[in-house]
Order: sequence, then C-alpha cells, then structure tokens
Amino acid sequence: MSNRTPITVARGDGIGPEIMDATLRILDEAGAALDIEEIKIGKDVYESGVPSGIPDSAWESLRRTKILLKGPITTPQGGGYKSLNVTMRKALGLYANVRPCISYAPYVETKHPNMDLVIVRENEEDLYGGIEYRQSQDVMACLKIITRPGTERIVRYAFEYARANGRRKVTCMTKDNIMKLTDGLFHKVFEEIGAEYPDIEQNHMIIDIGTAKIAAAPHLFDVIVTPNLYGDIISDVAAEITGSVGLGGSSNIGMQCSMFEAIHGSAPDIAGKGIANPSGLLLGSVMMLVHIGQGDVAAKVHNAWLRTLEDGIHTGEIFRPGLSREKVGTEGFCKAVIERLGQMPQKLRAANYDGVPAGGMKLPPLKPRKVEEKVRVGVDISLTWDDTPDALAAKVLPCVTENLELKMISNRGVKVWPNGQPDTACADNWRLRFMSKSGGNVRTSEILSLMERMNKADMNFTKSVMLHTFDGKPGFTAAQGE
Ligand code: NAD
Repeated sequence: MSNRTPITVARGDGIGPEIMDATLRILDEAGAALDIEEIKIGKDVYESGVPSGIPDSAWESLRRTKILLKGPITTPQGGGYKSLNVTMRKALGLYANVRPCISYAPYVETKHPNMDLVIVRENEEDLYGGIEYRQSQDVMACLKIITRPGTERIVRYAFEYARANGRRKVTCMTKDNIMKLTDGLFHKVFEEIGAEYPDIEQNHMIIDIGTAKIAAAPHLFDVIVTPNLYGDIISDVAAEITGSVGLGGSSNIGMQCSMFEAIHGSAPDIAGKGIANPSGLLLGSVMMLVHIGQGDVAAKVHNAWLRTLEDGIHTGEIFRPGLSREKVGTEGFCKAVIERLGQMPQKLRAANYDGVPAGGMKLPPLKPRKVEEKVRVGVDISLTWDDTPDALAAKVLPCVTENLELKMISNRGVKVWPNGQPDTACADNWRLRFMSKSGGNVRTSEILSLMERMNKADMNFTKSVMLHTFDGKPGFTAAQGE
C-alpha cells in the first residue's frame, strides 16, 4: 500500500494553472508524498451549465481524500452564479479560516517590519448564513446567527493553534458593546474556553479599535479570533499591510475536510503572462503538508522559500530596485525555490513544524451544555404601517388580550412608543412588543388570539418572534431608548 497521502487538486482559472504548476513542482522536488487527484471547478464548470461551479465527480473526490489544494477561481459576475468559495466552505463544514499575515522586511517593502500575526476567522455563521428578508416596501433585514457550539469550536481551535505553533497570545475581537447577545456570546465563550489555557495571554478588543490597531501597530497581535464578517474584513486589511496580497496562504479547516489556497484571486489582469507570484499558493500548500503530517517537508519548502526571498529573487509585484536582486517570472521563482531546497534562511525566522500534530488539531468534544429553564414571556410582532406610532398604538391597544400588555413599539430598533422622540426617523416596518403581565409563561393560544384580533383590525403582519427567558435572564434585547 502506498504511504502517499491522497489529495484533491483544483487548478482554478486566471493565474491558477500557472501558480499550481509551480507549486506542485516544488512539492514534488521537496519529496512530498502525495497521490494527486485532479478535479475541475469554477469558470469552465459554471459555463458548462452547472450553476454551483462544482460537478458531482468533484464532490466524490473530496469526500474520498478530504484534502483540497485549490487554485483561485473567478466568480462570474451576475447570472445567478453562487460563490463557489462560500458553497465549498458550507458544504464541507470548513469552520475555521486560518490566515497567517507576516511581513518579510527588509526583503519585501512594508510599513510594518515586525508584523507576524494569524487570523482565525469563524467561517460558517454570523451574517454569512445568507438569511435575508424584504420585510416591507422600505425595509431589508439580514439575520446574524452566532451559536455556542460554533463559537466553542472556533475559539478552541484558536487556542490549540496558538499552543501547537508556539504563539503566546490570543486576542478576541467582537462588537459586543452593541450586539450584546450574539457578539456577547462569542466574547463570553472566549473567556470560558480561555480559562483552560492559562499559559496563553488573552485579551478582548472591540472590532473597530482592534482593526485600527492592526493597521497602525500590527506587532501588538499574535493570534486573533473573530466572527465571520469581521474576520473577512480584517484578514484583507492585515494581508494588505504585510506588503503584498501575492504572498499569503490560507487554510479552511473542517472536522472532516480541509481546503488550502492562496488568499489572492485569479488575477485576470496578469493571467497567461508567466509573471504571477506562486508564493501564496505555495504557502497554502505548506499549511496542507503540516496538516497531513508531512511537517518536515513543509519546513523544507517554507525555508527554501524564505531563503529565495532573502536572496532578493523576486517576482514583479514585490520587486524593488535596490532591495531586490533579480526580477523573475513564475518559472524563474519556482526554479530558485527548488535550487534552495535544504537551505535555511539567514535572517528571517526559520519555519519549524515539529510541534504541530498531524491530521490537524484534535479538538476535545464540546463542553456539556447546561440545560436552562426556558419560559415564553412575550412576543414581538412586526407589521407594515404608514402612519404615526401613536395612531398605531391606538389601533392595536383594543386588540390586546388580558394577560398581555403592549410594552413598546420600535422602528429600526429605536423605541418610538410610549414617549417616543418626535425627531426619530421611521420606516414603514414597525415592531410591537407584547409581554406577559405577570412575567410568567405566555401560552401559544394567547398569542394566536392576539394575532387574530389584530388581523381583524387589518394589521399587516411581516414577522413574529417569541420572547423567552433562560433561567430568568431575557433572551432578547431592549429597544434603544427603552
Ligand atoms: P485578485 O487577488 O485576483 O487581484 C488583485 C490584484 O493583485 C491584481 O492587480 C493582481 O494582478 C494582483 N495579484 C493577485 N495575485 C497575484 C499574484 N499571485 N502575483 C502577482 N500579482 C497578484 O483580486 P480581484 O482582481 O479582485 O479578483 C479577481 C477574481 O478572483 C474575481 O473573480 C474574484 O471573485 C476572484 N477571487 C477568488 C478568490 C479565491 O478563489 N479564493 C479570492 C479572491 C478573489
């Protein structure tokens, strides 16, 4: 039986085939033990009439090998095509996106010579569920979902990653001063899980100041863990300020499958010219080798690559006269790395993957969940209305049943009744909060009877959400100004 690891390779499009070719040649020369299955995904597949961009045969290969090395893919504009990257992340359960952002001063020009951080981005939840509604003529809404298991997994991954890679600090970034339940949960779970890693320094920052600090003083950070949308944004900010988007690799890790790629796109402006830098994909492939237990080959490739940078052999987009020695294309760069296999960098920190477990981080099972007492204490009913809040209250109050009270009306999250501010700008979708008078359980029949009466009064419903307490604590937020 072969001791080679089966992997699936997708060359992608644009510069994808060129940089994949260079990457695979370097891996081969370095002695990587791989059995490669090639699949076609992306542009050609979209154009052949498969709207997902990935044919069934490709899924079969992925299920078999569980490892994908992927070249960049052009997402066709318009035409209802789904983003293949999002589809793959979701379908394969790739919950963690890991992006090292490192500067290579003085060999690559950057304002931040001491930058060496890793962003661990939650990859499946948050606003990326794509659950959006048009609630009325004027109002669109998108649902943000943060779950305890999803957060536990990503936070645990970040701490385990830090430990295995000799990193000393994990910073969590959220906006929990505004989103107290969703981002609040992320922050709380970070503190709970963090308590199990006393050897690792940890702190929390609000995402806005955190992003500003990454841009101004990236040396303050080591590992950053954050929900999906913030992670998406800060990983581009961080990659950009290392000096080149062409240099970053990334991994997308799931419980079963994992995908490794460059952070940049298919660069159609330079495709076919033989000048693309293969470094991003090569560093993605280094992460893959570490993941499949070939850490020695990974270090060999990574160190030869660092040495090539140090020797001033640079592709066009990082070439600087005076700083660089020789301008090369994809082919020339590939040859230079191969010539240096077995050499170590002289100044840059050498890569060493001895401490990283093969097969990826083995996460412990999720913490047992404490079952909390859930009591339904009210309901938020949203509806369309084109008059004032006082007129709306006057129309609804006679419909309110005995055990419920109309507690408040809000518009765009701001309380507008009772005692609203006349200057609050209102759209045509309103939220009415009905609460149990006693604070006790509200029966479904009471809510249905309330809605029945409101329906008879010609109320134009758009949404209803049950309100619960959990062990007495509200599972909903107050309106702004309430
Ligand atoms: P891009 O990353 O492809 O290119 C941005 C700029 O960086 C271009 O000027 C390009 O020439 C340069 N560049 C990128 N990689 C380089 C490399 N390896 N060597 C030298 N220069 C490089 O971003 P874009 O132009 O916004 O996107 C192009 C296409 O790629 C779009 O269809 C987009 O959807 C797709 N995309 C795919 C992925 C992916 O597959 N993971 C990621 C991002 C964008």
